[in-house]
Amino acid sequence: MLPSIYADYVDALPPSQRDRPDHCDVAIIGGGLTGVTAALHLAEHGYEVVLLEAETIGSGGSGRNGGHLCQGWPNDFHHISNQLNAHDADLAWQAGMAAVDMVVSRISKHNIACDLQFGYLHAALHQRHMTELLEMQDEWSRRGYNQLTALTDHASLAPHINSQSYCGGLYDSGSGQIQPLKYLMGLALAARTAGVHILEHSRVIKIDRGAKKTLHLYNAPQLTANRVLLCGNAYLTDIGLPTMSRRLAQVTSSVLATIPLSDNMIQHILPSRATVADCNTALNYYRIDADNRMIFGGRASYTNVNLGNVEADLRRRMAAVFPVLADAETDRVWSGRIGITVNRIPHFGRTDDDIYFVQGFSGHGVALTGLAGTMLADAIMGDAEQFDVMQSLRHMPFPGGILRTPALAIGMAWYKLRDRLKL
Ligand SMILES: Cc1cc2nc3c(=O)[nH]c(=O)nc-3n(C[C@H](O)[C@H](O)[C@H](O)COP(=O)(O)OP(=O)(O)OC[C@H]3O[C@@H](n4cnc5c(N)ncnc54)[C@H](O)[C@@H]3O)c2cc1C
Repeated sequence: MLPSIYADYVDALPPSQRDRPDHCDVAIIGGGLTGVTAALHLAEHGYEVVLLEAETIGSGGSGRNGGHLCQGWPNDFHHISNQLNAHDADLAWQAGMAAVDMVVSRISKHNIACDLQFGYLHAALHQRHMTELLEMQDEWSRRGYNQLTALTDHASLAPHINSQSYCGGLYDSGSGQIQPLKYLMGLALAARTAGVHILEHSRVIKIDRGAKKTLHLYNAPQLTANRVLLCGNAYLTDIGLPTMSRRLAQVTSSVLATIPLSDNMIQHILPSRATVADCNTALNYYRIDADNRMIFGGRASYTNVNLGNVEADLRRRMAAVFPVLADAETDRVWSGRIGITVNRIPHFGRTDDDIYFVQGFSGHGVALTGLAGTMLADAIMGDAEQFDVMQSLRHMPFPGGILRTPALAIGMAWYKLRDRLKL
């Protein structure tokens, strides 16, 4: 897959100066935000960690996403709370709400310059969306989150956005944006400084299970480990556990970056520079980055093939929201794989022989991966309270076999039709 524009702004990770061991406490598969956070947290507590990345750090979703830093869990919280007692529901709520704070404190602790900016608009395209947003505001404020402001008409939207596409929205001063690859590379450097062996171009092709696990690598000597974390999410190749692959669907989403826009143009379209996502199932999500580029994401393909002219489609979507951007020049277009679960809640698990996993952030992983990586690491270090609550949530499998891709595509087609008809 083509790299994102974010890669233009970061240096490659310098090669390691140390030989990697043949055995380690914890082997982590996947050099995205989940794997790197878990590695850093474990190394800070004295564990010997080897992190294996098939390509380069950030080549998966973590280095090619929209950069939206969102509060809370991806779906309405009652999808989680309905399955838990009041104590555990509260624990899960608090954990979800800590995810953005964790990003902010890691940025500060490791001095990572990654263009953090707050201000987020959930934009309603029609009345059903607005009703859902008001219900969300109600639920969140009952649980103590008071950073949401309802914007119920064009006049109240005007300080944030100038577009005829929306009838209202919910402004969240506690969510925002970062440049995700700058953040990830900052974490990776911190992890290496803390002692993690980070190996790029190191694809794990097989795991022999047991008390001591043997990881077979493509083109490199094997490694043994007491514990293994699977942090490959939608990019994990066929070394995943059957329970994981049945419960994860891969969706391809795409992003377009324009050349930098003028300050006047930004003042006209997004005066508060809020990061924006609409409420459709196949949503548009966008923001102005630190260099004044419009970073515009959208499209969702369940067919594993990114059909059609991706750039033309994203430009059409962007111009529908902001007609004045119809002629804005494209600098870069890229795509990536999002891992989703049926209920859009991340799927946590652990086997009897100490293989841990998390997957399925459902397009909401920039902040939650840091929480999940910390939970995995804490569970390994003996504090599994949060992990066990998340692990106890039930996840339905997607339909299997040869019907899987067509069934998902048909399901998505229905949601796209519903979006278009504003039902
Ligand atoms: C286009 C796009 C836009 C998105 N926008 C947003 C957004 O704006 N906000 C938000 O919150 N979330 C967004 N997301 C989701 C978010 O990016 C992900 O949830 C998050 O990055 C997942 O991180 P991760 O570390 O779990 O996995 P990844 O970052 O995908 O990392 C997994 C890594 O595992 C490696 N790997 C896989 N198999 C192996 C193997 N066998 N051996 C070694 N390495 C292996 C892969 O090479 C990859 O680098 C978006 C995702 C995409 C694709």
